[in-house]
Amino acid sequence: MFKKLLLLLVLIIFFLSGCAQTTPSTEVTPPPQDNPPQENGDKDYPLPPKDYVDNFLLKIGEATRETISYKDIASVAVLVNKQNELPADYVPPDLVYVNIPFTFNEKVEKRMMRKEAAEKLEELVAAAKEENIILYGVSGYRSYQTQKALFAYFTQRDGSEEKANMISARPGESEHQAGLAMDVSSQSVNFGLVENFGDTKEYAWLKDHAHKYGFIIRYPKGKEHITGYSYEPWHIRYVGVDLATKLYEEDLTYEEYLFFKI
Ligand SMILES: [Zn+2]
Repeated sequence: MFKKLLLLLVLIIFFLSGCAQTTPSTEVTPPPQDNPPQENGDKDYPLPPKDYVDNFLLKIGEATRETISYKDIASVAVLVNKQNELPADYVPPDLVYVNIPFTFNEKVEKRMMRKEAAEKLEELVAAAKEENIILYGVSGYRSYQTQKALFAYFTQRDGSEEKANMISARPGESEHQAGLAMDVSSQSVNFGLVENFGDTKEYAWLKDHAHKYGFIIRYPKGKEHITGYSYEPWHIRYVGVDLATKLYEEDLTYEEYLFFKI
């Protein structure tokens, strides 16, 4: 009995000392947010193909869908991507707090969206709840300054701006600054912004119902070379019901819809 206890004690000491040695040291400065970003963990991000920039330069003025007011910063259809940025001093004039469950308690900017988007997101989350799908907000509005700090954090963590830019927008290029995007998650993935949110029943519901409330899955799997971002099942963007429905029915990203002659 005593020998067994001694062995157990030795094992415990060995285990604890092992843990202490393997604890990673962190050299990067934490981001200036109350919650650290969790986007995609530590995986190695695929970079866009070499010809991405040559073949897919999305410049304002080249769109084939002139009826969509994607150039208008005041429109909920405004296009914000790596080729079309927002002014550094742009703050949406009608930001409101979104009344949905969040993964944190603080009343901070990331609870906000533009009014129309906020109201439709509240409808979406309530409709999901009716079907026992519980969605949580993780991150909504983000100021230019917050995005700047966040991008600097990812650049330091991932080693280059190019790598960081696959998962994090450069300041001015984030839909979060437009107040039209929300990152969402569920308890089933521990409220994280992780790729396997895309395998949950919550995502399955979102994918097929979001458009009814004006939202699109902005960075789908398989379209990374077009959107310029890794697959982000958690990032939904408000564009209005009509446009979201068209994109859903035609299974197109916003860039494809605007710029491809389909
Ligand atoms: Zn996002």
